[in-house]
Amino acid sequence: MQIEEATMTSPVEIASAAAAALAQLSAMIGTVKNASEKVALHDKLHPVQQALHDLQAAQIGLLEENSKLRQQVADRSELVRAKAQYSLQPIDEGKLAYRYEGSAGAPHWACPSCFASDSIMPMIGERYSGTAVKWRCCKCSLSFLTGRAHGPSFDEPINYANGWMTR
Ligand SMILES: [Zn+2]
Repeated sequence: MQIEEATMTSPVEIASAAAAALAQLSAMIGTVKNASEKVALHDKLHPVQQALHDLQAAQIGLLEENSKLRQQVADRSELVRAKAQYSLQPIDEGKLAYRYEGSAGAPHWACPSCFASDSIMPMIGERYSGTAVKWRCCKCSLSFLTGRAHGPSFDEPINYANGWMTR
């Protein structure tokens, strides 16, 4: 009965080897003829088995936590990549919003308030009066009233055919 330390690389393998060693010990105790000696050995083995069970339960908890953390890292990386496609630009004088600079999606503004709390929310433009447009966040209450119907490119008038104006 030996635990091969050199070949074990993960806690899973170590716990598995320890369980195998305990099973061998238990089998060896089974061959002991003296009844009182057998009971004494079982009594000594019991806390070790209990400790192994606790260790395995803790291990399952750690594996689940590890999986959750890996997912959080992946989600964070995705968010960082998505945010890199925006730049803070004036939507009107003294008013800043995040302009989409990517090429895969339709041009749009993203809410600066939601952006700061790691949520990329497009702003919907609504014709207000004349050339004025009210830009409103889909999620929070933030809105900007702009004097001109600026499109995602600040100098260009809004392109109503693009579909990112409600009307
Ligand atoms: Zn918002």
